[in-house]
Amino acid sequence: MPTNPVTANPLAPAWLRVPADANALTSGLWPASTSRNSAGELLIGGLAATDLAAEFGTPLYVIDETDARTRAASLRATFEREFTRVGTSVGVYYAGKAFLSIEVARWMADAGLNIDICSGGELAVALAAGVDPGRLGFHGNNKSLAEIDEAVRIGIGSIVVDSAIEIDRIAAAATRHGRVQAVRLRVNSGVHAHTHEFLATAHEDQKFGITLDDAPTRVAAIRAEASLRFLGLHCHIGSQIFGTDGFAESASRLLAVHAGLLENGPVPELNLGGGFGIAYVDSDTPSTLDDLASRLADIVASGCAELGIPLPRIAFEPGRVIIGPAGLTLYSVGTTKAVEVAGPAAASTRLYVSVDGGMSDNVRPALYGADYTVRLANRVSTVDAALVRIAGKHCESGDIVVNADYLPGDVAPGDLLAVPATGAYCWSLSNNYNYQGRAPVVAVKNAAAHVLVRGETIADLLARDTGLLTSPSSRTSPTSHTSTTTADTTR
Ligand SMILES: *Cc1c(COP(=O)(O)O)cnc(C)c1O
Repeated sequence: MPTNPVTANPLAPAWLRVPADANALTSGLWPASTSRNSAGELLIGGLAATDLAAEFGTPLYVIDETDARTRAASLRATFEREFTRVGTSVGVYYAGKAFLSIEVARWMADAGLNIDICSGGELAVALAAGVDPGRLGFHGNNKSLAEIDEAVRIGIGSIVVDSAIEIDRIAAAATRHGRVQAVRLRVNSGVHAHTHEFLATAHEDQKFGITLDDAPTRVAAIRAEASLRFLGLHCHIGSQIFGTDGFAESASRLLAVHAGLLENGPVPELNLGGGFGIAYVDSDTPSTLDDLASRLADIVASGCAELGIPLPRIAFEPGRVIIGPAGLTLYSVGTTKAVEVAGPAAASTRLYVSVDGGMSDNVRPALYGADYTVRLANRVSTVDAALVRIAGKHCESGDIVVNADYLPGDVAPGDLLAVPATGAYCWSLSNNYNYQGRAPVVAVKNAAAHVLVRGETIADLLARDTGLLTSPSSRTSPTSHTSTTTADTTR
């Protein structure tokens, strides 16, 4: 039941095409198992979105387990094939900050991936999953002394040194625990990439890493510590990157320094970071994994050949490309509102559709101006498509989930909506704005669903508020001075 094609609404952004059918699920945007059943309902993992919403409520994060596992395994296999072709090996680290739960950590370990963490909390999740500490990498520009000590103590595989100060700290922790700690050195290559663009400067004005010029001195300091073992340089040039030009520029800068470092000792690895992009909307055109892997392998191989140095072992740290497309979010429509907007020629109408979540479960549109796609999940409709903006329920006019897309114009309260590609950087960035409890995450597979992380209840939200420790009678007591003192000492 396709909708009739309509003419573009002048309020729509230039990149947004009017869909031939506003019910269609464009391939590449949706978790692999997504389709519609004969009733027009969205199906994921063999389950109807309406049944998932009825069982778990909305907003609801849904992860297609088979898709996530397949993406992890095929990324590793593809990269291994291509780097073996050019004569070296590759290690893949799943960037846990994209989305980490105990079970997801196990999926990644099962697929043969290592895991990057960047806090004591993420470390605790990976350890709770039973992941071998030797397969964890630790990032961050301000790891606490306690975090460094714990990571070294449990035998973490590698720590990325982000500043000169950290060299002493990690060396001291390793000495304390009688270990030799493997470390990488994060450098700022001056290359910053996003979608099709990249910017190359001497070095970026940002908080991560040290400049390439400083690298030889810092590596000498690392090599001078008996409790440290230098693995190689590390660089992460950005996120949501569609091509390989930025990686080529960054790799060539890194390899020149890497070659110099070889004169004074071994440099077994080179870590080129993550950042591989995914499609959020129809017009997004990320590279395929096959293209990425083969071009990156060629870039590294030709760079080393030009310098006349042996190929190091290569490492990558993808997050988004593995888990992002495997997830979607379900929302219920609460209200709709047609808003007349004055245009240069004539007034146009934008249909605001408000859902039961928003910037608490997906802050990316508010934080980065990120674009998303939306479709009806409980039905299809033949009514002409209308330009919609999916708004959240929070007290912020920038609380937008989908800035612009077309939906059948009869979208109404009670409808269920699905927003694809929310597997990465949505739950992990979720928050309690307006005391909205975080939404649950469920995994679906073979027509069964199970909870990965339960949602927050009102009781969860109140549990950490120490006001509950003061009895109602003392709060209203006229001798409030005494009760305040009591409350203070209780804290
Ligand atoms: C965020 C991050 C990644 C992962 O980025 P994606 O865009 O999710 O692939 C990898 N490495 C570092 C150092 C990061 O900060």
